[in-house]
Amino acid sequence: LKLSEGISKTKEQITKRIDSLVSSHGEMNDAFWEELEEILIMADVGFEASQMLMENLKTRARKQGTNDPEQFRSLLKAELEEIFKGPRRIQAVNPPEVLMMVGVNGVGKTTTIAKLAHRAQMQGKKVLIAAGDTFRAAAIEQLEVWANRVGAGFFAKAPNTDPAAVAYEAMDKALAEGYDLLLLDTAGRLHTKANLMEELKKIKRVVGKKHEGAPHRSVLVVDATTGQNALSQTKLFHEAVGVDELILTKLDGTAKGGVVVAVALQFNMPITYVGLGEKMEDLRPFEGSDFAKALLS
Ligand code: GDP
Repeated sequence: LKLSEGISKTKEQITKRIDSLVSSHGEMNDAFWEELEEILIMADVGFEASQMLMENLKTRARKQGTNDPEQFRSLLKAELEEIFKGPRRIQAVNPPEVLMMVGVNGVGKTTTIAKLAHRAQMQGKKVLIAAGDTFRAAAIEQLEVWANRVGAGFFAKAPNTDPAAVAYEAMDKALAEGYDLLLLDTAGRLHTKANLMEELKKIKRVVGKKHEGAPHRSVLVVDATTGQNALSQTKLFHEAVGVDELILTKLDGTAKGGVVVAVALQFNMPITYVGLGEKMEDLRPFEGSDFAKALLS
């Protein structure tokens, strides 16, 4: 699936309306902006991000000295490209590189870990997956099935073991056996939020003690179909453990892809990949300019 196909429902939701917005207004006046606000909110860009986006678009229009709705698409495209530039951190990492994968149950975290492992292995890397969600026995089993399917190394301990102990020993194994990448799964039970956040902090501490700089990145997985919930999850995890980057799953088949814009605008956080299906190949590096193009072409 290509990105442009994956976001076809979101595109349908947004482009048709923008076409009619552009053709039904003679100038970008208050009525124009009000209608745009409605379109953005319908597409799950959300209230706050919609306000920010409109302010930026107005500024852009003013700077270009244009009030012509015909110019709107190119203004929006330029603005989206700017938003998705985000802070890209490319750092040299002493292997094994460690990613702590966080996110609420059901968002597609397990599948995403498998997809990341598959990608890294295609690049010739040796990958270890560690089962840090010891809260659910089924989570450990499912992750093992995926690890075997993609041919990655797997580390787990008994259900209900302290997840930090799993992380610590997995870190040991990754160091001793020359792995390039360690993907640490973590629990996603939100009903014991405070405990979960403490658990994640502890995992960070123990792997950092074993291996300088680890975890190198905390990666939050969110489900694009949940629209504004994806935003509140981002806020929650970011405030608690500091999220370095986002992966948005299930962008295929949802009309709520506007949440991508909201996340980028409100958190200034890079979206590194998007999930476009259930198979191990269905993960695409996220390029903001491609997204803007796919959305508006
Ligand atoms: P977890 O509870 O967060 O670990 O979620 P899972 O990885 O078990 O995924 C939950 C469901 O979402 C499964 O049925 C996956 O196949 C599905 N899923 C995950 N990512 C995607 C995606 O990008 N697109 C689609 N369509 N389904 C996905």
